[in-house]
Amino acid sequence: MKIQTAQIIASTINVVCILFTFLIAICFFRKKNVKNAETRLYSSLLIINIIAVLVEPVFYYLLQNGTESLLSNIVEKIYYLTTIMWMYLMTVYTFSITHIFSKTKISKWSYNEKRYGIILTFVIFAVILAFLPITRQYQDGIVASSSGAAPAAMFLLCAFLLIINFVVIIIKRKEIKIKKFLPMFLFFILILIQMILSSFGFQLLFITLNITLVSHLMYHTIENPDVKMIEQLNIAREQADKANKAKTEFLSNMSHEIRTPLNAIVGFSNLLLEDKNIPDTSKDEVKDIIMASDNLLEIVNGILDISKIEANKMEIEASEYSFKKLANELVTLTKGRIAEKPLEFKVSIDETIPPVLYGDAQKVKQICVNILTNAVKYTKEGWIELKISHVIKNDICRLIISVEDTGIGIKEGNIERIFDKFDRLDTADNVTIEGTGLGLAITKKLLDMMNGKIVVQSTLGKGSKFTVSIDQKIVKNPTIKIEEDEKVTEKVEVRDEKLVLIVDDNKINLKVAERLLESYGIKSVSVDNGYDAIEKIKKGEKYDLILMDDMMPKLSGTETFHELEKIEGFNIPVIALTANALTGEREKYLSEGFNDYLAKPINKDELNNIINKYLNQE
Ligand code: ADP
Repeated sequence: MKIQTAQIIASTINVVCILFTFLIAICFFRKKNVKNAETRLYSSLLIINIIAVLVEPVFYYLLQNGTESLLSNIVEKIYYLTTIMWMYLMTVYTFSITHIFSKTKISKWSYNEKRYGIILTFVIFAVILAFLPITRQYQDGIVASSSGAAPAAMFLLCAFLLIINFVVIIIKRKEIKIKKFLPMFLFFILILIQMILSSFGFQLLFITLNITLVSHLMYHTIENPDVKMIEQLNIAREQADKANKAKTEFLSNMSHEIRTPLNAIVGFSNLLLEDKNIPDTSKDEVKDIIMASDNLLEIVNGILDISKIEANKMEIEASEYSFKKLANELVTLTKGRIAEKPLEFKVSIDETIPPVLYGDAQKVKQICVNILTNAVKYTKEGWIELKISHVIKNDICRLIISVEDTGIGIKEGNIERIFDKFDRLDTADNVTIEGTGLGLAITKKLLDMMNGKIVVQSTLGKGSKFTVSIDQKIVKNPTIKIEEDEKVTEKVEVRDEKLVLIVDDNKINLKVAERLLESYGIKSVSVDNGYDAIEKIKKGEKYDLILMDDMMPKLSGTETFHELEKIEGFNIPVIALTANALTGEREKYLSEGFNDYLAKPINKDELNNIINKYLNQE
């Protein structure tokens, strides 16, 4: 090829490179960038790329004129320097994405130290090049190529850096995602072409084309600011998720730790309340202990729920349920909360509501309990009314639940605030009433999850009305059994002599369970680990029920239960007992095969239900 033709090709390529480089630079620098090591290196690569594409035409122009002046030498050396620096920064970039220095001292260098390191290398290269000579070869009276120590040093250095790049990428190939490989891969191919062309005498041709193409590809694969921003956001989200998980775990552990001693406080206080030898004056104090522990339990549950909702861990667990049973539970619970308060409790439940609905009964109950509890809490005298009506559309039953009270009421401007977490209205009446400000925040979030609505009407000093609407599916052919009059069982009398095996590593909890069962006239045997329980069953000891704590060292309750299941002929009902009261825990234990689940502190109503169900069967 004639030298003129080569120079025309080179000039055309150069113009294209200038256009492309400026285009990427404008796109890159105009956008908001993530400031990390790789992006900063890429910015430098782009700047060097710009210098190279601008220096190149000047260099060709000077060569074409055949002048061997000091200026042409300087320009040529600047051109070499930009090429070396580009290769050098590219190598640093490769080191950065492959984390090759992550375990060395270099990774601990500050940003400025790294920057000074690069500037120092630049100065060293510049000084070396300044002293190295260039010899020109002429063809048809025009400079065709350059040789001598300066271009040789440039080629050698670039080849050396290229080999380092290649080796690092091959060794660390697993650490870089496929798209990060692409520019590198193209880079090697282009350099290979470059080398082949160099051997034909076109040493300098294509250098800027190579670096421009690689910069361009890097922009579209790794360094696009938008993609980087999304990547960074994803990393931030992953970190936030991790932190949230750690928070939920911490809260669940904390809840477990608080619930264990609470079990003893609530259990023994309830037993004291039933003790005939205790004077009435002391009973009032015992009631205060129970109330305070109930409050503490409410706080623990509230914090646990809100953190679960915020971590998106709360799920709707829908199943068939008896509406009547749910309504009865609400009534019994509210009556219990009213206790001796001078409040009339009016109940009006539509008899025509379909008996079996499909939805998350547990959450519907939690929503209603929250507003009913508030009505009791914020009403000194007068009445509270629970009204449940419904509207049917196709197979959906819209439950309309309203709770009205004659309590302290809420100022109009404050109604919006009551759904904010930890926000309690600062009224004189309010400060004397215990609360966390979490109940309604949870209620609102649960309703949002179920596409439900809540409306509040209230007049300060007169009373409030909370109306909730929730859609539930109607079950026409239920698979669950509904008893005629499903009620929360009052304290039951156990008909025959029964023997219960209690398994719990905590001695106080064993005592609480023993005493609670004793109050029903039920005998019990206690063991403080799973191995002893298995031993007893293997020996053929007969029990009517097993209460099994889950969190036990060495052999957990669940593991013990699975071992028991392996024993031939084993058919004793086993109830999981746990202080881990996260929502969904019941389902977890039932799916493990446990017959039922009791959360600590043991709730009397729930214990009544269990005893009635498993120890009072005909
Ligand atoms: P808590 O009752 O624990 O303070 P909630 O989130 O359940 O938290 O309620 C938030 C606030 O809304 C309460 O502090 C109270 O000021 C107000 N509130 C809720 N229900 C009623 C009600 N029935 N009557 C008057 N005020 C209420």
